[in-house]
Amino acid sequence: MHASDRGRYLQLAELGQAPTAMVIACCDARVDVSAIFDAEPGALFILRNVANLVPPYEPEGMYHGTSAAIEFAALALKVPHIIVLGHSHCGGVDAYRRGVRDKVPERGFIGSWLTLLDNLKVVETDIFAYGDEMAFEFAAIRSSLAQLRSFPFIKEPEEQGLLALHGLHFDLASGALLSLEQETGRFVALSEV
Ligand SMILES: [Zn+2]
Repeated sequence: MHASDRGRYLQLAELGQAPTAMVIACCDARVDVSAIFDAEPGALFILRNVANLVPPYEPEGMYHGTSAAIEFAALALKVPHIIVLGHSHCGGVDAYRRGVRDKVPERGFIGSWLTLLDNLKVVETDIFAYGDEMAFEFAAIRSSLAQLRSFPFIKEPEEQGLLALHGLHFDLASGALLSLEQETGRFVALSEV
């Protein structure tokens, strides 16, 4: 890819990055963020972790890789958009849903990480319309958006209209993107937004 697009990379090296959006997605190998958005190199500031989760604002914490990336995107890059991108067949969310978390050794990193899903608010109508698995994935996206708003440097620019937060769900099989409608809290086809 670099060989065929050398000019762009040279420009990016010289001018630095100025991404249009930050995307918080899952590590899942099937969720190729640049491909999903048909994005050119330099367009997206992408953070991937298990189950596209955001921890709460904990300034006293130690090794907050996810929070560090969010801070950089908001304060240094001043991205106008942050997208939390969930996906179908998410192993992380499903492990939690099936209670696998409880079987992970107490000190396991995944087990601790997935406790971010504790108190997840799964919406009844989502279960009815999309099934249990997807309803949990939707709830995880809503939870990450709520956690993002616990960061003062996210909440303030959002209130000032300088930053917009979005929730999207990508279906692996069909390629469909569902978008979280802020007013209703429902996930609807992106084409309807
Ligand atoms: Zn996943």
